[in-house]
Amino acid sequence: MQWDIVIGLEIHVQLATKTKIFSGSSTAYGAEPNTQANAVDLAMPGTLPVPNEQAFRYAVMFGLAVNAEIERRSVFERKNYFYPDLPKGYQTTQLERPIVGPGYVDIDLASGESKRVRIHHAHLEEDAGKSLHEDFHGMTGIDLNRAGTPLIEVVTEPDMTNADEAVAFAKKLHGIVTSLGICDGDMSQGSMRFDVNISLKPKGSDTLGTRTETKNLNSFRFMEQAIAHEVERQMDILEDGGTIVQETRLYNGDRDESRSMRTKEEANDYRYFPCPDLLPVEIDDAFIDEARNSLPELPDARKARFKEQYGLNDYDAGLLAGDSKLAAFFEAAADRGKDAKLASNWVQGEFSARLNAEEKSVADSPISGEQLGDLVVRIADNTISSAGAKKVFEALWTGENDNVDAIIDAKGLKQVSDTGELEKMVDEVLASMPDQVAQYQQESDPKKQKKMLGGFMGPLMKPPRARAIRSCLMRFW
Ligand code: ADP
Ligand code: MG
Repeated sequence: MQWDIVIGLEIHVQLATKTKIFSGSSTAYGAEPNTQANAVDLAMPGTLPVPNEQAFRYAVMFGLAVNAEIERRSVFERKNYFYPDLPKGYQTTQLERPIVGPGYVDIDLASGESKRVRIHHAHLEEDAGKSLHEDFHGMTGIDLNRAGTPLIEVVTEPDMTNADEAVAFAKKLHGIVTSLGICDGDMSQGSMRFDVNISLKPKGSDTLGTRTETKNLNSFRFMEQAIAHEVERQMDILEDGGTIVQETRLYNGDRDESRSMRTKEEANDYRYFPCPDLLPVEIDDAFIDEARNSLPELPDARKARFKEQYGLNDYDAGLLAGDSKLAAFFEAAADRGKDAKLASNWVQGEFSARLNAEEKSVADSPISGEQLGDLVVRIADNTISSAGAKKVFEALWTGENDNVDAIIDAKGLKQVSDTGELEKMVDEVLASMPDQVAQYQQESDPKKQKKMLGGFMGPLMKPPRARAIRSCLMRFW
């Protein structure tokens, strides 16, 4: 039997506000556990939430960036459930009137085509605390610092048909929210978390199959693996004549295993009701216009500009424009290096490979785009070979020296591209050895002559000439 895969995503995006969505406590990551949750975050009796205007501004910016309608009257509901990391007993979220209505995002596929993924809606809500399983034997620690951090939850239509499309969408969304500056995009700190809904249906069928939801994937790689894993699991069950249970699953990326967490609850299990502590929020045209005017350049527009301004092809432009930090790094390298194609190759090649190998993001890079640009200049004008350029890159990266030309000099990487200069060096050596030259010229046996040549090579290949000669020879080989 042949199957169609159907995927819809729910993405939690932590908004980069300084304070929580309904209180003044800090959202900074990494503080001592339970030092950044106050009485409002815990919904202590007698406290009242106060909405954070910046969270609304960010949500509106997001809506505009994904071509969505903004809901003018935004209502908060309580979603009631108990979990240790939610001691208040309910999550303040939106159900009936989410702030961002239907929209869409276009993604680039490997085939070179583009595909539209529809966004069902995006709503504002508060994050829960965090359960810590690792540091406590036989117990679970609870850190409530994250409780009340503003999130937008973005819900797509089930428009994706394989892992590549889902990952392309996830990366695109990452590029949008980081370009907007509404999320720091740091997935290792949980700033973006993906829930993947997956079902299978017989190829060509119009009826959707029963889906499972795999929760809280926090890297693109885990997302890809979790989809492959779940598709295979469902296929095995269906081909054995079984049925899929609608459930929430957890995926363990380190072991490539998944397990059921709970069978899927219905909305009415949560006894949603409008939060009596929060008035509906009215958003007026002036607020939306102000947000629209503050929108920065977004990945699609940047991609078009990179093609136009730097002459990049569609693939390179899309890749470099997708991430705002990578894009800025590339632009610095291309502007300084004056050779955009070469800058693009180095950013996507050596630079990205090195970041990946050290699990660093562009922000952690020890070298700047300008430094890479200086390196590009020296490759483009043939001062150094590509092997030499790798050595310069290494020295920049490790911080041995921060100046490209100084590294080239110190390591003697300059190529002698001019044979005239080589001949001059040979002439100098020969002029310093007149007796040997005379002997050589008088010798009639070519074999002996050949041996005598070695006597000239010795002094010729002494530093500082040797390096220059060697690099010159390397160029001709
Ligand atoms: P609920 O409100 O019960 O959580 P929704 O219908 O709103 O469920 O869908 C939640 C997510 O699941 C959305 O991202 C949606 O695209 C996706 N989804 C819904 N049905 C399917 C299906 N049959 N297969 C895969 N994904 C689905
Ligand atoms: Mg949900």
